Amino acid sequence: MPSLAGPGRPEDLPRGPGRRLTVLSGPSGVGKSTVVAELRRAHPQVWLSVSVTTRRPRPGETHGVEYFFAGDTEFDRLVAEGELLEWAEFAGNRYGTPRGPVLERLNAGVPTLLEIDLQGARQVRESMPEALLVFLAPPSWEELENRLRGRGTEPEDVIALRLEAGRVELAAEKEFDVTLVNTSVPDVCRRLIALMSA
Ligand code: 5GP
Repeated sequence: MPSLAGPGRPEDLPRGPGRRLTVLSGPSGVGKSTVVAELRRAHPQVWLSVSVTTRRPRPGETHGVEYFFAGDTEFDRLVAEGELLEWAEFAGNRYGTPRGPVLERLNAGVPTLLEIDLQGARQVRESMPEALLVFLAPPSWEELENRLRGRGTEPEDVIALRLEAGRVELAAEKEFDVTLVNTSVPDVCRRLIALMSA
């Protein structure tokens, strides 16, 4: 299992029809969204899937940009009609990846990125084994706690739930093809785009 502490050579990476699909996962607060935003700024050719969630929008979030915000009934319908490539419940809300737009981009050969939780990454591993699964790890547990509290977007009970999920996610790191430690956003972006282009 290549780690970017080591080389992550192109010949180690998965091949096949879904090889343009990359999944970025890692505990809440690790900085996935910041990495993804920087990656898209520097590499607009990468298409980022917009997930559906039942979570309430945070200040500054816009429907159709960060997420499609949906009610429970609408989410139930998407699940029942098989419209989600994967979905999971995370810290009291549901999140899912709309299937159609992802398959469309992959069929067109567009490098496609999903930013999803561990449960979702496992589902993608099952349904699209050629996808590249990247784990974004914090430099330390203390750093993760500080970041999650420091961003001030969640009350303490939600932070506790997210930290609990974080412990489970960290324990699953070995299920991923590659681990990137988020010590520097530009550095992680460079490594990620190199993996996606390999
Ligand atoms: P947040 O509420 O902080 O935006 O996201 C919470 C968690 O849900 C994050 O770990 C994020 O990666 C994950 N997430 C976002 N969208 C999806 C999705 O479509 N599917 C799954 N399984 N997880 C998602």
